[in-house]
Amino acid sequence: MFHKILIANRGEIACRVIDTARRLGIRTVAVWSDADRAARHVAMADEAVHIGGPAPRDSYLRGDAIIRAARETGAQAIHPGYGFLSENPDFVDAVTEAGLTFIGPSAMAIRRMGLKDAAKALMEKAGVPVVPGYHGENQDPAHLAAQADTIGYPVLIKAVAGGGGKGMRLVERPADFAPALDSAQGEAATAFGNPAVLIEKYIQQPRHIEVQVFGDGTRAVHLFERDCSLQRRHQKVIEEAPAPGMTDEMRAAMGAAATRAAEAIGYAGAGTVEFIVDGADGLRPDGFWFMEMNTRLQVEHPVTELITGIDLVEWQLRVASGEGLPATQDQLSISGHAFEARLYAEDVAAGFLPATGTLAHLRFPDHARIETGVRPGDTISPWYDPMIAKVVTHGATRAIALRALETALADTEVAGAVTNLDFLIALTRHAGFARGEVDTGLIGRDLDALSLAAEPDPACRALAVLGLAGLQDPTVRGGITLWQPLRRTIAWQGGEAVIEVFGPGRARVTLGDATHEIAHEGGRWWVDDRPRNWRIVNHAAGTSVFGGRSLTLTPLDPLARGGAEAGGGLTLSPMPGLVKAVFVVPGQEVTAGDRLAVLEAMKMEHTLTAARDGRVAEVLAGPGDQVEAGAPLIRLEEEDD
Ligand code: ADP
Ligand code: ADP
Ligand code: MG
Repeated sequence: MFHKILIANRGEIACRVIDTARRLGIRTVAVWSDADRAARHVAMADEAVHIGGPAPRDSYLRGDAIIRAARETGAQAIHPGYGFLSENPDFVDAVTEAGLTFIGPSAMAIRRMGLKDAAKALMEKAGVPVVPGYHGENQDPAHLAAQADTIGYPVLIKAVAGGGGKGMRLVERPADFAPALDSAQGEAATAFGNPAVLIEKYIQQPRHIEVQVFGDGTRAVHLFERDCSLQRRHQKVIEEAPAPGMTDEMRAAMGAAATRAAEAIGYAGAGTVEFIVDGADGLRPDGFWFMEMNTRLQVEHPVTELITGIDLVEWQLRVASGEGLPATQDQLSISGHAFEARLYAEDVAAGFLPATGTLAHLRFPDHARIETGVRPGDTISPWYDPMIAKVVTHGATRAIALRALETALADTEVAGAVTNLDFLIALTRHAGFARGEVDTGLIGRDLDALSLAAEPDPACRALAVLGLAGLQDPTVRGGITLWQPLRRTIAWQGGEAVIEVFGPGRARVTLGDATHEIAHEGGRWWVDDRPRNWRIVNHAAGTSVFGGRSLTLTPLDPLARGGAEAGGGLTLSPMPGLVKAVFVVPGQEVTAGDRLAVLEAMKMEHTLTAARDGRVAEVLAGPGDQVEAGAPLIRLEEEDD
């Protein structure tokens, strides 16, 4: 076994790897960028090496600097985590040439699965069912359109080099094919430097079911399936294992196909074979098709660990250090059910727009497994994935594990950045999801209801108003009231209320037309005559109320700049990022909704549109510019100019 390893990653996955290494008595070396000087993974590791600037290409993607750090610290092996260099075969070659061990598959295995078209061709040969479609070399638009006709609509266009849901377009009718192809190729060229696409039959009511595999370079076993059908923008939100409705017969067929795929490429280490499943009429052994293989540890690996009792990082370290597979297929079994929810800094209402912020308050329950790379006071920066944590639960049955997830999320407290927490809680209460009726369209279909269910509760807001006024402490020793009779108006960003305090633990908060009676009795808050398990927390970013529903009020900041100032005539950057494209020039007439510019931040492209009709007065940023949140980008002429 290794005595020291370097982790070429950051965030929760770096922390996750360090946890297991420590348990096995292995020393750890972290690497950090300028943005991560004070990060949790750096604090947890035995040693840490600075590798460059905050942009990934200046640090976490710099294979040379990472290999140098490993050699200088005497690390014997490199764990790549996921993302960054984890699926980069040139990096694997460089690691090996430096006399170090790459904790993962061979460069050859990664290359053979790296492009979706080549992988599909290879899998077809190995007898693994693949999604019907065209994955040939001819990229001529007319040829591709003819292939789409043959496949039959609807079809999905996918970037062969794709990942993270990028470069993918659903096309419902032949008339839409040409423009969709154009935009998919454009996005693929920018994101992956490779415009090639493949065309697939779009599976109706699709379910995403993937199989965890583990190989030693020759043989492979599988550790059963995960269902990752709850997705937004083709990205996973909640994952679970095992898959609802899975039959022994189908599990055996999928497991055999996945191990066949791994063995076909001489796979070593942890990998995931992703299948798309037609969920239209139940799971059938002939109703699953290979989509792609992820040649690394997957984000959602903890659900597999909880149902199998196996530490996949331990297996990775053991196999990479030369041990054989730690278990045979018949030694593996499933116990209970597990869920994982991905807590992100993102604005659900704004189309899941990634957010930034400083986590003024952060507290996790101790009744769930939490994987996180941040601590209270840390910043969610624009440089990396805006994930705050993964909340993972296990139970004897699916229903128990799901209730455990709901309560774990309800007991999670975070303030300082907008998050998808309430949306996740709403999902755990979704009736169809509870029945196990999952497909990749669920979130999209019920988005309004799920977002509405996450709307702040006015009673919760009324309580937060008390905290903002500094009245959150109802009693001091022996029940002597701190509250002085008073009446005052208090304002915060986005609202104001009138507070009336009547004496021992009693107040009334008027918010618009609504009046809420608040009392503190028997050690808890009562709002409108109902006892509430709510907690008021004051922190650097304002006041939050937690307990099932959370809500944060931010005090008025006279320096804060409003995004909608100048009557919508000024388009500001909603977040720090890189300007990818500007579509307008001074003097050009635009109509409300027209595309003005594209901003890339947190690995996503955001299109900024005109808030009103008008004529462009000034273009204040150009392609390639790095801009701060709130930076003016495009100004329209005043309406009466
Ligand atoms: P999973 O199937 O485990 O959700 P994805 O392939 O969507 O995995 O992404 C896993 C991780 O890889 C992401 O969290 C992100 O850090 C990284 N990643 C995925 N796609 C990209 C991309 N296009 N550019 C950069 N990083 C990516
Ligand atoms: P990525 O590399 O971006 O992860 P995938 O090929 O794994 O791309 O597809 C991502 C998601 O897109 C899947 O989880 C699924 O929700 C959806 N998807 C992919 N292929 C199909 C298909 N043929 N039919 C329907 N949905 C699909
Ligand atoms: Mg995928």
